[in-house]
Amino acid sequence: MKFVFLSSDNFTFMSIADRLSKIRSTIPEGVELVAVSKFHPAERLMEAYDAGQRTFGESRPQEMTAKQAVLPADIRWHMIGHLQTNKVRMIAPFVTMIDSVDSARLVDEIDRQAVRCSRRIDILLEVHVADEDTKSGWDPDELRAYVAGGDLASKSGVRVRGLMSIATNTDDEKIVRRDFERVRSLFDELRESFGEEFDTLSIGMSDDYPIALEYGSTAVRVGTAIFGAREY
Ligand SMILES: *Cc1c(COP(=O)(O)O)cnc(C)c1O
Repeated sequence: MKFVFLSSDNFTFMSIADRLSKIRSTIPEGVELVAVSKFHPAERLMEAYDAGQRTFGESRPQEMTAKQAVLPADIRWHMIGHLQTNKVRMIAPFVTMIDSVDSARLVDEIDRQAVRCSRRIDILLEVHVADEDTKSGWDPDELRAYVAGGDLASKSGVRVRGLMSIATNTDDEKIVRRDFERVRSLFDELRESFGEEFDTLSIGMSDDYPIALEYGSTAVRVGTAIFGAREY
């Protein structure tokens, strides 16, 4: 699916500041815009920073750590990519939120590293609802069982703030809506167990965030629409 604004002719020629203000104008107040800056150099992040952006999403711990070292200290860093347990230690001292928590082992390690740094780290539990089986995250039933198991209650180093999910990558809007609907209803259900702190529903990326907003997204993770295409 290609969101109209991305396929417009001007897009390529717009500055990061103009793209940001255009995107912000389409997002209701109270919804967080996470600027996904993975694979883009620190100078590009600084352009976004100068346009007022403070929350950035990265997918690789080394890259996030390198950028954090050279960019302003008031940036809020979100880890959004699959995180190996042995890399948690690297980002634990400064990361604002880990959005991509996909296993009990990872929760345990984040808890351990947070305690070591005398911190409490906000996390989102990643749910897998997309058709692709390559994407990580808990199956809804596995997640229900994990939460019901009560393990999370004893973890003083983590605070579970909500859910994150990626919809199926498809042109079929019905499937995207189905995916967001599933995440949304699981979010409402789990909220009963967690209470008020559980307030973040991170759904929506460049191509589908306008749809995600209809399903109650409180945080959109937008990369390409801000920084342009990534060169891997
Ligand atoms: C890369 C990435 C994004 C941003 O994708 P765009 O299509 O560039 O907006 C959002 N969420 C996650 C988890 C990602 O890995």
